[in-house]
Amino acid sequence: MIQEHLPLESRVSRLTVQSLRNLCDAQNVPGAANLLKRQLIGFVMKSIDHKVLEDFCRQQEDIYFAENMAKAIKWAQSRKIVALDPKSDYTIVNAVFTMRRSDGWEVYNVRFVNHTTDDVATSCECVDSREKKYFCPHQMSVLVRCLSEGLFDLDHWTGPMTPEAEELILANVLRRKKKGRRLHR
Ligand SMILES: [Zn+2]
Repeated sequence: MIQEHLPLESRVSRLTVQSLRNLCDAQNVPGAANLLKRQLIGFVMKSIDHKVLEDFCRQQEDIYFAENMAKAIKWAQSRKIVALDPKSDYTIVNAVFTMRRSDGWEVYNVRFVNHTTDDVATSCECVDSREKKYFCPHQMSVLVRCLSEGLFDLDHWTGPMTPEAEELILANVLRRKKKGRRLHR
């Protein structure tokens, strides 16, 4: 469904030490308690059935997607947080994500390129996207803005998506938009 093209080891390495240890406990595999992250990844890859690992990764990825999509739906409403280049269209989207944090500003350029294949190429400058290969909350918030402005619709989006996130968008973004239109008539 999402990001299954990544090698299993990369998907496992994105998980936290705590969730890897919990998995070992749940699978009754002893010996994980004192391992550092890098050793733990190797240990898990050797000790746990890869089908079980895949299911676990997918579960964690779905949680990441749903939790961040909920935040992204809120952020996408603010033009201060998500600034869309007005020249953006179905083939290319450029946006800047800006958010105030306690220790300064988070500013990331986000880009979707949809020229050549059925698969949209998406990128963000943040660590989650660059290093962990996640479809990060910044990209999600740009996606939500594009959907709410009608740059593309959910049926034609070929990038990462889950049924849960699609439900959230349908319930909170697209329905709200229709309501808003009716009010302005
Ligand atoms: Zn990002």
